[in-house]
Amino acid sequence: MRLIPHVLALGADGLPEARMGDVFDPNTGEVQAQVPLAGAEVLERAVEAALAAQPGWAATNPQRRARVLFAFKALVEREMEPLARLLSSEHGKTLADARGDIQRGLEVVEFACGIPHLQKGEYTPGAGPGIDVYSMRVPVGIGAGITPFNFPAMIPMWMFAVALACGNAFILKPSERDPSVPVRLAELMLEAGAPPGILQVVHGGPEMVNAILDHPAIAAVSFVGSSDIAQHVYARGTAAGKRVQAMGGAKNHGIVLPDADMDQVVNDLVGAAFGSAGERCMALPVVVPVGEATAEELRRRLVPRIEALKVGRSDDPSADYGPVVTAAHRERIMGWIAKGVEEGAELVVDGRGLVLQGHEKGFFIGPSLFDHVTPDMASYREEIFGPVLQMVRARDFEEALALPSRHQYGNGVALYTRNGHAAREFAQRVNVGMVGINVPIPVPVAYHTFGGWKRSAFGDHNQHGPEGVRFWTRVKTVTQRWPDGAADGHNAFVIPTMA
Ligand code: NAD
Repeated sequence: MRLIPHVLALGADGLPEARMGDVFDPNTGEVQAQVPLAGAEVLERAVEAALAAQPGWAATNPQRRARVLFAFKALVEREMEPLARLLSSEHGKTLADARGDIQRGLEVVEFACGIPHLQKGEYTPGAGPGIDVYSMRVPVGIGAGITPFNFPAMIPMWMFAVALACGNAFILKPSERDPSVPVRLAELMLEAGAPPGILQVVHGGPEMVNAILDHPAIAAVSFVGSSDIAQHVYARGTAAGKRVQAMGGAKNHGIVLPDADMDQVVNDLVGAAFGSAGERCMALPVVVPVGEATAEELRRRLVPRIEALKVGRSDDPSADYGPVVTAAHRERIMGWIAKGVEEGAELVVDGRGLVLQGHEKGFFIGPSLFDHVTPDMASYREEIFGPVLQMVRARDFEEALALPSRHQYGNGVALYTRNGHAAREFAQRVNVGMVGINVPIPVPVAYHTFGGWKRSAFGDHNQHGPEGVRFWTRVKTVTQRWPDGAADGHNAFVIPTMA
């Protein structure tokens, strides 16, 4: 059985034996590897190495740090195919989608290569008599990242690319469900020239997460995962005096106005609702047609497209999407479909019966479509995170705008229309963090910034972009005056002002 190692600069000798967790191949349902579910002792060893390495890394000039990231990017590009295969085999997303996962992460690495410019401070000469003021962005020290299963390459790179570029040491605790790619990324970072101890990987579940949150040497924690855990991470981490950003779950709506380009809507919706088996925090699991005529047309067009979707092995190039990540998650999705039926929604397409021949034990689930879903239903209020699209019919623009605005989650939203005024009005008023206008999955590019609102994100500062640099640095401001031999010898007992 393959054993997935920690990446520890000081090695793992002498550490107590950890409990093991199973890593599945979702295509077959078989266990393909085991990962340690470690705790405080392993973390302590990582922190010791990080503490030793970080000051030297912070003192390395930013261009040299950027060069390590350039080299890392070249190495990941060289390894794209094996990395994508590994990712797809543990997660279950198609190979093409796995490449996209890695590529979106690399785009943040590209952004972080601009760190000499991004980390520049500010300077005010002559702020007072003979006084200059300058500020600098200094690394927080040791940062940690706790990541979900659904983007095992992109989300770790969102975090460690920027954290490392800023001069921090970083400890990554990836999802225990698909931890192999994060390990490979850390190995490639070492190969690219990062000093040992600057990027380490520790494995585990809640015990390891809580050890990270409680460790006094870790200054900042970035978390991405489900909302209840995000809230826990935020509360416990900030109580321990850390800076914490904690991204949570989502329930993104796609609003369709009557004047929308229906061909585009149907294409986009099918991809955004069912791509990656719906296991994306920026998926579109809710569609809101405005007006009965729009709803009827959309339903008529959507049903055959959904029924024609091909669910297959993640390495089958003709598959639209592959299996979900675990049997337990498949059961959970099935449970939500049953709940939707029980709550009175109309199950128009039922994906529960799908069995892939030769892969009867794989975690496959067919696509489902619900119509006549209403906001009071639990299956609407909660995140399903599977290949299930729910249609909520709205009478008019205001009713449609209110749905995502009042929902507990506020990650992303999309509006389909040809009306610029309606689009502008919507973008201004909707109570959601990331908005797409005729764009289904509005994940901002690396040099902008990613983050939802409400229960989709706890804490300040988004991921990557300038916000990422702010999160992984602290500002130090220096007010300086150099003696000019003309001191008047008076003590000042009054606070200096610019009066
Ligand atoms: P998850 O919350 O189960 O796990 C995320 C991380 O938290 C993992 O590293 C896991 O080991 C750890 N964890 C799990 N249970 C814990 C506990 N009780 N105490 C402490 N730590 C714990 O999430 P997941 O299933 O891996 O990922 C899917 C979720 O992530 C979805 O809700 C999805 O919407 C969300 N997500 C959000 C974003 C975003 O940017 N908002 C992006 C991707 C995924």
